[in-house]
Amino acid sequence: MASDTLHRRGLMFILSSPSGAGKTTIARRMLEHDAEIRMSVSVTTRPIRPGEVDGADYIFSDQPGFDRMVEEGAFMEWARVFGHCYGTPKAQIKAGLKAGQDFLFDIDWQGTQQLYQKAETDVVRVFLLPPSLSELQRRLTGRGTDSAEVIAARMARAQAEISHWDGYDYVIVNDDIDECFAKVCQILAAERMRRARQTGLIPFVRGLTAGG
Ligand code: 5GP
Repeated sequence: MASDTLHRRGLMFILSSPSGAGKTTIARRMLEHDAEIRMSVSVTTRPIRPGEVDGADYIFSDQPGFDRMVEEGAFMEWARVFGHCYGTPKAQIKAGLKAGQDFLFDIDWQGTQQLYQKAETDVVRVFLLPPSLSELQRRLTGRGTDSAEVIAARMARAQAEISHWDGYDYVIVNDDIDECFAKVCQILAAERMRRARQTGLIPFVRGLTAGG
């Protein structure tokens, strides 16, 4: 058996950043280039944006529906962000990890903390920083999908979000999207090789040492 076909446990790859730091682009590229990682689709109460697909970008819910899921314990974590609720549904993730499926999470620092407390050894935390606040403003304005008020609120929120940079395992300053993507891929590749994740190693090594 080749060592790259050994069974391993999946991981939870968390990508956080203030809005506009490139997280969405990096996440999209990861999903395009790597067949072994899948997006964890969150439930949210915020209104759907143009171009978004219900069930793919988010599962859009009303507040009573979200509250019901909280009561039923259906979330691995949930948080209120920009006045709306966001949560990670538990279903699929637990079984997926066991089967070797990796999940990509686009969640904020609050969700990251909760997931880390619940599943420390499965979690890899990556934070993207913008090269400057003025570049962040330019990127948020350039996107053109949000009102001036929303952009202003997000700029204020960005500084608060950035203050949580030290709750992450890896921090990347995203001043070049290609370089940033390459760094993210390196982190993912290395984390997949952690001994504790490679659950197939024990029988494999036993085979290597048998009769020695
Ligand atoms: P947006 O509304 O722009 O898609 O996302 C707003 C913020 O909510 C982002 O910082 C995003 O990372 C965060 N977010 C999205 N889904 C979840 C989730 O399931 N849990 C938590 N804690 N944050 C989330």
